[in-house]
Amino acid sequence: MLNVWILGDQLIDPHPALQNAAARVGRDNVRVLMIESTARLRTLPYHRKKLVLLLSAMRHYAERLRAQGWTVDYRTAATYDAAFDDIDATTVLTMAASGRGARALQARRGFEVLPNTQFLCGQYDPHPDPDPSRRYLFEHFYRRMRTHFGVLLTETGEPVGGRWNYDEENRNPLPKGTRIPLPVSFAPDAITEQVMREVAEMPGVGSVDGFDLAVTAEEAQGAFEDFVRHRLALFGPYEDAMTERDDVLFHSKLSPYINIGLLAPMPLVTATERLYREGKVPLSSAEGFIRQVMGWREYIWWQYWRLGEKMQGMNHLDAQRPLPTWFWTGNTRMRCLRTVIERTLRTGWNHHIERLMILSSFSVLAGLDPVEVNRWFMSMFIDAYEWVMVPNVFGMGLHADGGLTATKPYVSAGAYIKRMSDFCTGCAYDVKARDTDNACPFNSLFWSFLMRNEEGFRKNMRMQPMMRGLSRFTPAQAQATQQRAEALLEGIETI
Ligand code: SF4
Repeated sequence: MLNVWILGDQLIDPHPALQNAAARVGRDNVRVLMIESTARLRTLPYHRKKLVLLLSAMRHYAERLRAQGWTVDYRTAATYDAAFDDIDATTVLTMAASGRGARALQARRGFEVLPNTQFLCGQYDPHPDPDPSRRYLFEHFYRRMRTHFGVLLTETGEPVGGRWNYDEENRNPLPKGTRIPLPVSFAPDAITEQVMREVAEMPGVGSVDGFDLAVTAEEAQGAFEDFVRHRLALFGPYEDAMTERDDVLFHSKLSPYINIGLLAPMPLVTATERLYREGKVPLSSAEGFIRQVMGWREYIWWQYWRLGEKMQGMNHLDAQRPLPTWFWTGNTRMRCLRTVIERTLRTGWNHHIERLMILSSFSVLAGLDPVEVNRWFMSMFIDAYEWVMVPNVFGMGLHADGGLTATKPYVSAGAYIKRMSDFCTGCAYDVKARDTDNACPFNSLFWSFLMRNEEGFRKNMRMQPMMRGLSRFTPAQAQATQQRAEALLEGIETI
C-alpha cells in the first residue's frame, strides 16, 4: 500500500501526488492520509472563520476523493508526528509544503516529496540563485513572469496597451453613491455546520457565525465567476479605495481559496486575459487583477524562500513597542483603525490597502514590534500562511527587512486616508491637524517618524517627496509635532 499525505492547504484536484501514486501502483493500492493536527490548529489564536474554512474544505475534499474511489484515512491527532507514529506507513508520498514548518517535517520523516505545483514560479524562476543581500524589484520579477508565461503580450512580446503596469489608474477613491454588488455567499451544508459547532468551542478570535465562504472547488469557481460578472470591470479603478459601507468593494476575495488549492492561479489569469481580449473588461482592471495573482502572490512566495528564516528576525527600524490591546478588539477612537479591525474580527479579511495603508502604516509609524504585528496578521486573516505573511509584514508592510522587498516604507499621513476613504468623516480626531490635542494620530506620528529617521530617508530617492514636506517645518512646528507624537505613543492604549 502506498500512502499519500495531502496537506490541508493542498486541496488540489487532480493532486499531483495522487496522480503519481496511481500511475505507480494503481488507485486501489493507494491510501490517502489527511490529518487534522490539534497542535497545529492551536499554534496561534486563529480566526474561527479561518478554522471553519480550512477544516470544512478538508472534509469536503476527503468526501470528494472517496466519491472518486480513493481510500481515504482521515484522522484527528494531537500532532502530525503522533498521527504518523500511529500509522503503519513505511512509504509516504507527498507534495512539497508551501511553508517551512511542514516541509521540515516532510524531510525529517523521510517522505518522498514531489515538487509543489501551487505557484507558477515553481515552474519558472525569474531570478535563479538570488543574492540574499540584494533587492529584487517586484516590477522586474513581474515583467519576467508575464514574458515567460506569455500573458497580456502583443505578438512581438511587448505588453498590450504599451505599458506593463496600470497601477496609476488603480488609485481612484470611491464616488459617493457608487453601487457596490454584494459578493456571492455559500450557505453552510451539514459538513460545514458540524465544523462550525466544533470550532465554536475551540480557542481563537472572531465568531463562526455568518460563515458563508466557499468550501469546495466548485464553490470557489463560482466565487471567481461572480467576481468576473459583477466586480472585475471596476476592480482596477477602485482597487485602492476604502469605505466603511462595504467589506469587499470590487475585490475578488479569492486568496483564501487559491492559498488552499481550491483554485489554481493560471486558469484565473487565462480567463481574465480572455475577458480583456474579448473587450469585456478594461485593461486597467484585467492587468490589475493579473498583477495580484501572477505578480504579487508569486513574488511574495519567492521572497519567502529566498530570504529564509532570518526574515522573521529582521527589525531594520528598531521597532520595539508592544501591540496595543485594541488591535484585538477594535476599541480605539481612530475611526479608520476601528472600522478596519472590526471588519477583521467580523470577517477575517481586509483588502490589501486596508492591510497596507491602515494596519501596517500605523504599525510602522507607532514603531510596533514586527514579531507581534506578524503574529496578529497570522492569527486574524483567513488567507494567512507563514509564506504569505512573513514577506508581507516584515517586507512590504513594516520595512523591517530594510528594503529587500520594497524600496520605501509604505506610510502616510491622514490626508491619504481621507482621500481614499470615508473613514475621517465623524472621526474623533481632526484629520487636518498635526499637533493639537485632537490632531489625527496618523499626522503627528507620520511627521515624527520622518524626523526620527531623517538621516536615512534623505538618502532614499523615493522618500524625497515626503522629506521635502518635512523641510518646510519651522523648528517650533517640528517640536510641537514631536511632542504630540510622544504623548500619543505614551497613551497608545487609549488612543
Ligand atoms: Fe484615521 Fe485620522 Fe481619519 Fe481619524 S482622522 S479616521 S485617525 S486618518
